[in-house]
Amino acid sequence: MEPQSLLTLTPHGLYAPAADIHIDPLRPVARALVTHGHADHARAGHGAVLATAETLAIMAARYGPSFATRTQSLPLGEVLRVGELDVSLHPAGHVLGSAQVRLAPSGSGPRAVVSGDYKRQQDPTCAAFELVPCDMFVTEATFGLPVFRHPPTETEIRKLLTSLASFPERTHLVGAYALGKAQRVVAHLREAGYDKPIYLHGALTRLCALYEDFGVDLGPLEAVGRRGKELAGEIVLCPPGQLADRWSRRFGDVVTALASGWMRIRARVRQRGVNVPLTISDHADWDDLRATIRETGATDIWVTHGAEDALVHWCTQNGLQARPLHLLGYGDTGEVEDPIDTANDASSAA
Ligand SMILES: [Zn+2]
Ligand SMILES: [Zn+2]
Repeated sequence: MEPQSLLTLTPHGLYAPAADIHIDPLRPVARALVTHGHADHARAGHGAVLATAETLAIMAARYGPSFATRTQSLPLGEVLRVGELDVSLHPAGHVLGSAQVRLAPSGSGPRAVVSGDYKRQQDPTCAAFELVPCDMFVTEATFGLPVFRHPPTETEIRKLLTSLASFPERTHLVGAYALGKAQRVVAHLREAGYDKPIYLHGALTRLCALYEDFGVDLGPLEAVGRRGKELAGEIVLCPPGQLADRWSRRFGDVVTALASGWMRIRARVRQRGVNVPLTISDHADWDDLRATIRETGATDIWVTHGAEDALVHWCTQNGLQARPLHLLGYGDTGEVEDPIDTANDASSAA
């Protein structure tokens, strides 16, 4: 069996024929394996969905309990026979419940790993990325350009706390996506010793509660509710789209921050009028993408999501077979960390 025969593309997305299952399908299918809960990977309307318990809970919270006809949870590291393949899920370090998918025929034979979205940086809110050796690796490339190098998260969090100390009379409004980023910003603030209540826009409360249900301690959280100027000197988290929205005027003179990998780009910072850019990303940066591809040992690389061509070029220069998947439909839901396209953040994050 050739590695390439493990996976193929259909109009619905990535498909493993020997297991008769789609991975993160873009349209409703009979059998889906879902890597994580972001809306571009986890869609409603499939027949059967196989995923981690956390991902299934996130999908139920977003789409309602009947988001699929049947669901089955697969714990990380456990092997399940699906058709002719052994399927297992391994931590992707991206958001709560996020998993890479390993596919291989029983016994010997080629192994394929579909990364979903992943990062190598420390994140107190989810299991750390696990390196899974394979022959064929399907990688994301959201930040697949040399300009993207994510600084240590502690440095970014310190910027926010320094600003808070300098402007204690102003509310610090931090834009962060509802699934993953918001909880991570809170958890890193706690690691840095910030123990006051952190206030949440209504679009963020439900998923924060879900994280806590799964044992992630976020410390004291409060909904903003009707409060405004009385939150001077406090940290308020909201979806990125709300930073410049009418909603934010209630706080008076604010300091705005935005947690996103795109904050590396000065033009983006200016465009958004962000006072404190926080380069905090839930995706691998250029260095980590390349390191991960090398460390898997894979010789066949499929690249999806974002800057595919630059990473494909790097792969071929380094003697690896690589192809861009050009799959439309990923990253267009306001969760790709692109602060330019966040007009419907609040709704897509709900
Ligand atoms: Zn994602
Ligand atoms: Zn994605």
